Amino acid sequence: MLIAAHSISGGVLGELVGNPVAAFIGAFLLHFVLDWLPHYDTTDDGVFTLRQIAFIIFDAIIAALIILFVIGFSFTTHQLFFWGALGGIFPDIIENLLIRNDEPIYGNLGLSFHRFHVSVHLAQPGAIAGIGMQLIVVVISLFAYYSIAK
Ligand SMILES: [Zn+2]
Repeated sequence: MLIAAHSISGGVLGELVGNPVAAFIGAFLLHFVLDWLPHYDTTDDGVFTLRQIAFIIFDAIIAALIILFVIGFSFTTHQLFFWGALGGIFPDIIENLLIRNDEPIYGNLGLSFHRFHVSVHLAQPGAIAGIGMQLIVVVISLFAYYSIAK
């Protein structure tokens, strides 16, 4: 899923669980549940094309704007959101640090992680349906934040 969907859902989960370690681990695990939902990814067959880089930057800016709108600049009072958001995107950070062009850089651990991460992804729908699904994840997360977590 996109950075926006993983970081916002993870951040909200973090606020809900109320503990930084649980926020990070819970959001890390939530990442794989969300990747299991049919969605749309930015990968152009694992190669960093200009189109993909532009898409990732756009995705990160949207995520940052939504998060700033929700919690503002008060990261000290929203540390749980921060740890949750970091846990939510951490699997993709690991993926990009350990894997290059489908080949693991750091041996078996990277390969095992990569295989598991890929295995939770089901057949992907087209861009509209896939991004629509991620929009639903963001909306549900924000609804949970404003109705329960805040
Ligand atoms: Zn992922």
